[in-house]
Amino acid sequence: MKTIGLIGGMSWESTAHYYAVLNQETARRCGGLHSAPVIVHSLDFAPIEAMQRADDWTQAGEVLAAAAQSLEGQGCGVIGLATNTMHIVAPAIVARLGVPFVHIATPTADALLADGFETVGLLGTRFTMQRRFYVDGLEARGLAVLVPDVGITNLDGIIYEELCRGIVREESRRIYQDAIARLAARGAEAVILGCTEISMLIDDSSSPLPTYDTAELHARALVEVALA
Ligand code: GLU
Repeated sequence: MKTIGLIGGMSWESTAHYYAVLNQETARRCGGLHSAPVIVHSLDFAPIEAMQRADDWTQAGEVLAAAAQSLEGQGCGVIGLATNTMHIVAPAIVARLGVPFVHIATPTADALLADGFETVGLLGTRFTMQRRFYVDGLEARGLAVLVPDVGITNLDGIIYEELCRGIVREESRRIYQDAIARLAARGAEAVILGCTEISMLIDDSSSPLPTYDTAELHARALVEVALA
């Protein structure tokens, strides 16, 4: 099994979730005491979030590409970036890598298509919902993608002000449930939890639509590539 390189810390709450799933999936596939060989390069999220706000994606791409290169240099055979939003700079990372980079939207689209869905809702940060980088990738796979038409600032704020700080509030869960119900009313058949922290708030048991947790799908895909 190849060593998995994970660029994390964005936020560390979701990187902890990735770490658990990487090991659970490795144990499920390999049995016994097997666990995932993984190196986590965990960044300080505050300066990254400041670059997002400043729209400085060039600098952010430099930081993340350097982290990816360092993981490759330490012997990692596959690289994952444990945040949807920062996949805005995925091209800058891929350009510097000689080993496979698993894009988070790839296993997400694979799972939705395998389950027969055509029209999906997408929840995430304002960047993931409003910029084209994520929606374009899903549409290229043949999915119709709906993003919320109201309440984007609120949904985004809950991610940065609460979930990334480990805060889970019932009122915020209701706001997410309401956003999913609105997407369902517009025709969404399933919802992508397109921010790696949203599963702290919402899962299949609390959602009006079937949920697709990008962190879990991405972590499982990284194990699959590492074992291939
Ligand atoms: N983890 C989040 C995501 O999946 C948001 C934090 C970030 O901006 O990277 O988009």
